Amino acid sequence: MLKQLSIKSKRTMTSDASNLQHFQIQCRLGIKSSEIVTPSEAIEVSLPCVNCKRNRRTVIFDNSSKFGICTPRDKCPGFKGKLSSYGISREPNFAVLTYNIAFEYESFIDQKYKNESYFSRWARVYFTLQCSKCKQKNTLSTQDNMVRPFTEKCRCGNAIYLENENPLKYFLNSEQLLRP
Ligand SMILES: [Zn+2]
Ligand SMILES: [Zn+2]
Repeated sequence: MLKQLSIKSKRTMTSDASNLQHFQIQCRLGIKSSEIVTPSEAIEVSLPCVNCKRNRRTVIFDNSSKFGICTPRDKCPGFKGKLSSYGISREPNFAVLTYNIAFEYESFIDQKYKNESYFSRWARVYFTLQCSKCKQKNTLSTQDNMVRPFTEKCRCGNAIYLENENPLKYFLNSEQLLRP
């Protein structure tokens, strides 16, 4: 009985370790440490999906206990991974939001374009920023393909956020994905 159990657990570990991948998104926002910013759990990320065998699917994570939603939803049973953790760290003039996604993956051929699967660099990150003047909370977002610089204003008219350059970086199993 004991012997059987140990064999079973060993097998499970091997199959998990062989294809579990870790994707990390870092978003470094130019926000002073005196300002109150909160990361949103929701994130949209471009990922290759082994279930529908397509590259660059927009996968929505809106709840860290649930599997990601691969879009369009009617073309895929669902993304094989979850947002495993997310958080914020502060630097003197920045707030760094970090999102970790753990998912099953092995390379495949894209069903439509017949090219090999690959990882791209695109995400939309949401956060809440409190206006220093009127104290209202504003929900903002940023993503890779924005025209920069851009400014976001609070409903009271106060300019609360300025973005000069792309704040997003991507890491696959701790290796940074660089622009070609
Ligand atoms: Zn899919
Ligand atoms: Zn305001």
